[in-house]
Amino acid sequence: MHFEKDLGIKDKSVSLKEKLQQLNSSIEINSFSLEISEKNISKFKESDVLVDCLDNFHTRYLLNEFSLREKIPLVHAAVEAYYGQITTIIPEKTPCIKCLFPNMPDKKEAFPIIGPTCGVVGSVEAMEVIKVLTGVGETLSGKLLIVDLKCMEFETINFKRKEDCSVCSSYF
Ligand SMILES: [Zn+2]
Repeated sequence: MHFEKDLGIKDKSVSLKEKLQQLNSSIEINSFSLEISEKNISKFKESDVLVDCLDNFHTRYLLNEFSLREKIPLVHAAVEAYYGQITTIIPEKTPCIKCLFPNMPDKKEAFPIIGPTCGVVGSVEAMEVIKVLTGVGETLSGKLLIVDLKCMEFETINFKRKEDCSVCSSYF
């Protein structure tokens, strides 16, 4: 979605909006170039679904809390090198991101990204979003899909809500 001519010139949000509009001119896109914080996250209150394509856990935790507070489903995905993971959080029904990752992982300055991993994991994440929006099919709620493209293995594990989760236990 980003071409060499865009690098260092355009914000990712602007570049992405342009490409998507060239793919389908009938869709309406509102793009925001901002770093999500507790102060501005309420901008996304009207969302039908939140899609986590983030590269850090600090903002991911913020999004998780916002999802629970506003009762907006959250589709989480993350990638690194050959590996990826996807799950769907349905507020007041499923465990949350903090149940799954109770401790903030160490922040990495840089980590390898391989295009095809983003393609595979991003497509699965998009499928989850379609299922959440249409209510058709079974989502990965309460399940974590782990994608290992180095060994070409896909594994789904069930995970439970942490009874004492610092984020979601007050919503149950
Ligand atoms: Zn939780």
